[in-house]
Amino acid sequence: MKIVNSLSEMQKLSWGSFVGKKVGFVPTMGFLHEGHLSLIAAAKQSCDIVIVSIYVNPAQFGPNEDLERYPRDAIRDFDLMKPYEVDCVFFPSDAQMYPEGYKTWIEVKDVSRILCGASRPGHFTGVATIVMKLINIVKPDFVFMGEKDFQQIAVLRTMLKDLNHPAEIVSCPIIREKDGLAMSSRNAYLNEDERQRALSLFLSLQKAQALYRKGIRDSETMRREMSSIICAAGGKIDYIEFVHPDTLQSMQILDVKAWIIIAVYMGKTRLIDNAAILA
Ligand code: AMP
Repeated sequence: MKIVNSLSEMQKLSWGSFVGKKVGFVPTMGFLHEGHLSLIAAAKQSCDIVIVSIYVNPAQFGPNEDLERYPRDAIRDFDLMKPYEVDCVFFPSDAQMYPEGYKTWIEVKDVSRILCGASRPGHFTGVATIVMKLINIVKPDFVFMGEKDFQQIAVLRTMLKDLNHPAEIVSCPIIREKDGLAMSSRNAYLNEDERQRALSLFLSLQKAQALYRKGIRDSETMRREMSSIICAAGGKIDYIEFVHPDTLQSMQILDVKAWIIIAVYMGKTRLIDNAAILA
């Protein structure tokens, strides 16, 4: 496992010895968990070369968000990755990714403005920009991403299509803790009590699926039922939305394709989760 800090060294590999190989790329912000590792395992299974990046991208954090306290532990990350025989870990610095005088940003309209984009203005511009930069450096054929960040995948697929980029996003299922909580680096912020109460996100998704199986089709009834589970657990709802999985357009009357996407504050921690309506 080669650890590469220098952008030019990474480019030398991508534009040199990796050319002609099927390259899989897993972009992360580090503090790895089983969710990240599942992406690495999927990349390993289908690609000749696997590159993982660890970079906490300041551009996707709002001014009052958790950039400074975002959990970081690169040594632990390298240890966790060892069994997967990752070929290369790209671990650049801010100064390399955003040197002085940096000017260029990628904005994916519409799909970036709704859901998490409405609550976190500028977030997806930061995400789109860093992922495009990393893809330009790493030159992957496939980019492995988790469905945990459902909207992120929609934004990035739109970006690659609009920019005529041949890299393809492979979306991988959400990995959950034994009790159902979606794994996330941000779960480290939760105290024991909040951790218990955070399960209400998963329980509310299961409730919506159960209602669908019973024949309920209107989103308002579902939203009400889900809200009561989350509020009873002390969660503050940012949004509960029912959307078409490709366009992320809101659905009032649900059909088999509908996807449920939620964002909830548990204490100060903002958690996201999602599920297909038909489990
Ligand atoms: P992050 O480090 O949070 O930026 O996430 C890096 C990648 O890991 C993204 O593609 C996420 O969607 C994915 N990921 C994060 N949590 C999970 C999870 N619980 N299951 C599957 N993928 C995940």
